[in-house]
Amino acid sequence: MLSYTAGDADVPLLEETIGANFERVAARFPLRDALIEAAPVPGGEARRWSYEKLNDDVDRLARALLALGVAKGDRVGIWSPNCAEWTIMQYATAKVGAILVNVNPAYRSHELEFVVRQNGMRMLVAAPSDKNSDYVSMAREALADCHALRELVFLPDGRLDILDAGEPQSDAELTFAELLKRADDVGPLALKARMAELDPYDPINLQYTSGTTGFPKGATLTHHNILNNGNQIGKLLGYTERDRVVLPVPFYHCFGMVIGNLNALSFGAATIIPGRGFTPASALEAVQDFGGTSLYGVPTMFIAELALADFASYDLSTLRTGVMAGSLCPIEVMERVIAEMNMRDVAICYGMTETSPVSTMTLASDTLEQRTTTVGRTMPRLESKVVDPVTDETVERGVIGELCTRGYAVMAGYWNQPEKTAEAIDDEGWMHTGDLARMDSEGFIVIEGRMKDMVIRGGENIYPREIEEFLYRHPAVQDVQVIGVPDPKYGEELMACIILKPGAELDLAGLQEFCRGKLAHYKIPRYVDIRDSFPMTVSGKVRKIDMREEAVARLGL
Ligand code: AMP
Repeated sequence: MLSYTAGDADVPLLEETIGANFERVAARFPLRDALIEAAPVPGGEARRWSYEKLNDDVDRLARALLALGVAKGDRVGIWSPNCAEWTIMQYATAKVGAILVNVNPAYRSHELEFVVRQNGMRMLVAAPSDKNSDYVSMAREALADCHALRELVFLPDGRLDILDAGEPQSDAELTFAELLKRADDVGPLALKARMAELDPYDPINLQYTSGTTGFPKGATLTHHNILNNGNQIGKLLGYTERDRVVLPVPFYHCFGMVIGNLNALSFGAATIIPGRGFTPASALEAVQDFGGTSLYGVPTMFIAELALADFASYDLSTLRTGVMAGSLCPIEVMERVIAEMNMRDVAICYGMTETSPVSTMTLASDTLEQRTTTVGRTMPRLESKVVDPVTDETVERGVIGELCTRGYAVMAGYWNQPEKTAEAIDDEGWMHTGDLARMDSEGFIVIEGRMKDMVIRGGENIYPREIEEFLYRHPAVQDVQVIGVPDPKYGEELMACIILKPGAELDLAGLQEFCRGKLAHYKIPRYVDIRDSFPMTVSGKVRKIDMREEAVARLGL
């Protein structure tokens, strides 16, 4: 049997724009909570929006954008950690048909300028500067240097650690409050007229993905792509208007703005922002304080939550479900999330920015083993296949190859990069993911890691995931990543990078002893690197490349 599956082809998709969908849901559930942002200081006031209020605020901002002359298809960027204004921007730009450009809050001036130029961005909404990021000066540099950029808007402060909230210094600069005042110049009918001009198949969002090499590429996504992907995920999670979804994952990434916002807000559920950035305590506090029924995170976030010294003191009894995604989800962590966090229906989602993002997920009705050891089966209205990376032929079930995805969720293309688009999406519409996977006889898919992370030692292919899963079982190990480092004899050798549990000890000899007799000799790490943390991207992916470079420098390889 070949490694090909199609998800349910009869499930209907929404044929409406993001703005129309939101208005429809808001009219149905006007008084329910739509958005809650936890107070930045303990004991402070949370900020709350009902659906009615959120829709009003979205409309006000949308009219302000019209007043400034923002046209359908204009690129409007947002460069900020999570906050309520991010959500309001997401829906306001969608209502006026402006393409929202998610700018990674970790970007610095060089990357910001690249993104602003690459898509000819006309307006940038930037966060106030804090101790980590001088958003205000970097945004000003971009405004001075990139001629398409006409307006710079500074988001409000009123939070901890704000150093510079951005006082307008020229006509091109506005505070968010000033921007909102412009709404007085445009009536609701103008907004209605604009919304009537939009088509669900128009591009509405640009998300830059780091890519494997070179400059980031802008995955161009339509209303139809991301609204439907969010909505399909929610259906499979069993979301209703009674759900309250806690989002410690970043909005600039599809995990926050699609799997989180577009999903929850298409069901009348509440979205809850625990804070600007992730801390394990704020995520669990948000569940406790706001009755979260669903909690999201990349695996390292759940690992950090479970490792809190006072973990047992949080009341997580309202939780039912959630999503773990973004990188390989260790079996042990899934098991603990189900057993210890009350997330009995938690799903693993798999996908990538270019596929809106989710293409496979586990269901609560799958067996515990399927839910912890696989990324589930193909989502409705999508197809998956596993191909030989060299010949592109579909491989037999059980054989490892490159995973490919086809269907409504595949992006429109990389912005202004037709050659890169053609490299990623073939003539038959298959998105080549760059991930190694195998499909079992029932269509469940197991991700074996990125093609580029595969280690080849003395001609043997080693999939780091297998060894990571094994080492998680060691009682001293809190978190582990396995990488390949250069070796003159074998080409590559394995290094285990390990974060130990508090007070635990482990050295290379102990680690090798643990593996001996249980793993083939070539899979036993040659090096161990005990560390306090892993270098991470903002979206929670471990930067194995950085660890490899560090190891090469430190060991003089
Ligand atoms: P991004 O475009 O930032 O969402 O990254 C997509 C990549 O993250 C995929 O190509 C995978 O390598 C990885 N990824 C996402 N979800 C999972 C998952 N559940 N298991 C393993 N890898 C994942």
